[in-house]
Amino acid sequence: MAARIPEELQKKLAARLTYFQDIGISMFYRDRQAASEKNIGLPVAATGVLHSAFRISGEAPILGKITNKPEYLKATRIQTAATIRPASLPIPASASLFTAINRVPDDTLLKIRQDLGECTRCKLHKGRNKIVFGDGNPKAKLVFVGEGPGHDEDMQGLPFVGRAGKLLTLMIEAMGLQRSDVYICNVVKCRPPENRAPERDEVAACSPYLLRQIDAIAPAVIMCLGSVAAQTLLETNRGISHYRGQWLEFRGRKLMATYHPAYLLRNPSAKGEVWKDLQKVMAVLGLELKKGKSA
Ligand code: URA
Repeated sequence: MAARIPEELQKKLAARLTYFQDIGISMFYRDRQAASEKNIGLPVAATGVLHSAFRISGEAPILGKITNKPEYLKATRIQTAATIRPASLPIPASASLFTAINRVPDDTLLKIRQDLGECTRCKLHKGRNKIVFGDGNPKAKLVFVGEGPGHDEDMQGLPFVGRAGKLLTLMIEAMGLQRSDVYICNVVKCRPPENRAPERDEVAACSPYLLRQIDAIAPAVIMCLGSVAAQTLLETNRGISHYRGQWLEFRGRKLMATYHPAYLLRNPSAKGEVWKDLQKVMAVLGLELKKGKSA
């Protein structure tokens, strides 16, 4: 008799399938060869496509192959590093937060964290439990910038570990990466009360540290999650829908804004748009959706 899949893995798999269905990939089949090798006995869904890069770590390769050419493979060719021309945004917010900030030579995340210290530079420190500095690969090619910590992040001192964070993890894994491959941080490093948007003085106090983080990591691509991150780095007050999914520039680096995972939790139908954005990033980073073995 086939062995049962551990409950934790079943939950991860269910979340993964829901995510793919939300972004329009809805037909799955079981890789008979791989399944028989592992003898894992998952229920078989309909026939269809899914890339092997979508596996959850520790998950058996049950979701193996591409049997025809799905839309998302075509979409990876929309833009490449060579064809991108960063767009510019016509409406600056007000005085620049960043132009006066110079690069710190030989900066490191450790130095930046030490300089931040037990920060009291803005009023957000009064309500925080833990500073959420950032997490991930200090040499990441891809940096995600969110808005600010929520309750779970404030408790754990780590970015994107709540519900929105779990969705972000699925997005990262859908790109064929792990969280440990990328760097994740926020515009403000302390939780705003009641999860309100950070105020301008708070953003201004925290921005030099975000800037130093980005410079120290020197990623190929910055992905802003939601309008607070996008408006802060792009210094615009234009709504994100005006430039979401376009290649823009931040201090000489490629930047793209996409919807915040918390927005996607409320509006799952927008996941397809975000998936398109992620594919553009994948193309620039040379992350191809490779074909799996055939059945
Ligand atoms: N939302 C954010 O913008 N950042 C987090 O770290 C968590 C939720």
